[in-house]
Amino acid sequence: MADCIFCSIVDGDIPNHTVYEDDDVLAFLDVNPLARGHTLVIPKEHHERVNDLPADLAADVFAAVHDLTDDVEAAVDAEATTIAVNNGPAAGQEVPHVHAHIVPRSEEDGGKPIHALIESPPEVDDDEFGDLAAAIRDD
Ligand code: AMP
Ligand code: ZN
Repeated sequence: MADCIFCSIVDGDIPNHTVYEDDDVLAFLDVNPLARGHTLVIPKEHHERVNDLPADLAADVFAAVHDLTDDVEAAVDAEATTIAVNNGPAAGQEVPHVHAHIVPRSEEDGGKPIHALIESPPEVDDDEFGDLAAAIRDD
């Protein structure tokens, strides 16, 4: 897609440090890393959000995330990784081309878990849990 940074990377118009590539998926180092080895995994085809991806392409992207996680951790001797997708602008997505972050983590990095994302989480009672689950199941 025109004006998409990650499509330009796929097309070879913007340089990158590739760590994995196949016909459908590309993985490269984040240019502004949160940690050494911070890697982005993208579908080569332009889709904005995870829920826009065809299911087989979503599976390909997640398979690459799965396969790369050991390699990223080993390369920088990380104890753990945070694997995350900012899925839409309201969730902090800045590049509108689906990408999974693999961020190497350690006990000393001062980072936080996903539960630190939201300052005031809701209090949900059991009735509402039931309603929410039914809405997601689309009963
Ligand atoms: P997000 O906020 O989830 O959309 O993350 C976008 C990520 O893309 C950020 O972590 C940026 O550092 C990264 N990024 C932006 N431009 C480039 C680029 N040309 N090469 C590698 N990573 C990039
Ligand atoms: Zn794109």
